[in-house]
Amino acid sequence: MGFFLGDLKEIEDKVVSTRRIIHQNPELSFREEKTARLVGEVLRSLDVRVKTKVGGNGVMGFLQGAKPGRVVALRADMDALPLDEMSDVDFRSKVKGVMHACGHDAHVAMLLGAAMLLAKHRDDLHGTVKFLFQPAEEAGEFGGGAQPMIEDGAMENPKVDYIFGLHIFANYPSRTFALREGALMASSATFKIRISGPGGHGSAPQETVDPVYVAAQVVTSLQAIPARMVDPVEPLVVSVCTIHSGTKSNIIPAEATLEGTLRTLSEVTNKRAKILITQIAKRVSRAFGAWCEVSIVDSFPVTRNDPSVTRKVSRILKTIPGTRTVEISPLLAAEDFSRYLQKVPGTYYFLGTHNKSKGSVYPNHSPQFKVDEGVLKYGSLSLALLALEFGRQ
Ligand SMILES: [Zn+2]
Ligand SMILES: [Zn+2]
Repeated sequence: MGFFLGDLKEIEDKVVSTRRIIHQNPELSFREEKTARLVGEVLRSLDVRVKTKVGGNGVMGFLQGAKPGRVVALRADMDALPLDEMSDVDFRSKVKGVMHACGHDAHVAMLLGAAMLLAKHRDDLHGTVKFLFQPAEEAGEFGGGAQPMIEDGAMENPKVDYIFGLHIFANYPSRTFALREGALMASSATFKIRISGPGGHGSAPQETVDPVYVAAQVVTSLQAIPARMVDPVEPLVVSVCTIHSGTKSNIIPAEATLEGTLRTLSEVTNKRAKILITQIAKRVSRAFGAWCEVSIVDSFPVTRNDPSVTRKVSRILKTIPGTRTVEISPLLAAEDFSRYLQKVPGTYYFLGTHNKSKGSVYPNHSPQFKVDEGVLKYGSLSLALLALEFGRQ
């Protein structure tokens, strides 16, 4: 730890300026070419071996320590969101309709900062550090970016023993690390329900089957799943987030479509809720004479932190001066870091960035989202420390 602390001031400016370059040039999921190029350049400048085009736009760096030890992977996601930036920073997005509103620009910069710290001290390092710069985390409905990287061999050769990743989070105060053992984040599945019937004239509903009316009944009935049909102590969300139907105020349309998301913290509840969504949508539709089609696609599994690894992570984070580490309740957000945790033990954790005095008060995914850049060096330090300590195992 001591030698990293001495270097922190030196890397801080580089981490912040790199983050600003990425922030100004955001790229959507599956299109992270420029970001990947920048990552490759920085890693090579540190004499870190680089592999590009891993599972799409993924970039991997390999840093061999001087001493034998474990293989520790550190992961950052690289993609931005389809939003017009409305923050007040002077390095706003230069790309219309695209913004780093989830902090993935900060993730890339922090991991590069960790690479700077670790590369400088490779003589003190045990084992190998694998840096995973991942595309398409925000594209859960298209399978995300972790799975393609895994399929492209990211966890093999050398085989990863532990993996760590962190997310900037506006809900927690700046310089606060937040984590928990076990299930940290939810599984997510996307459902689509198509309800149809013969439409007709708005004045004569008796001659039609009205899909708008049936859709309304389905939306209401689906809430019986969390309220009446699943153990109330099991976290579960069923949210219908889009309703599309109709063209004119006097036409009963022939079709209505609903789309939504299902979140759970257990595989068993996830399975049961999917069956219930399908049954309720179909049976309610049938009761009113409508035809119904349901499709449900799994996005990400539960993000499950290894308990003993996470206990050790917590102990390490608590040694970082100027920060605080807290235990949190699970969130029903979802993250494709879960895919790596299905393969090897590791920990995903948050770094708070809520700071009123700096105007960093807006939630992730808001067009006004603003990172407190003062926390970035702590993120870099935490990742570097985890690689150092777990490499020794
Ligand atoms: Zn996000
Ligand atoms: Zn994110």
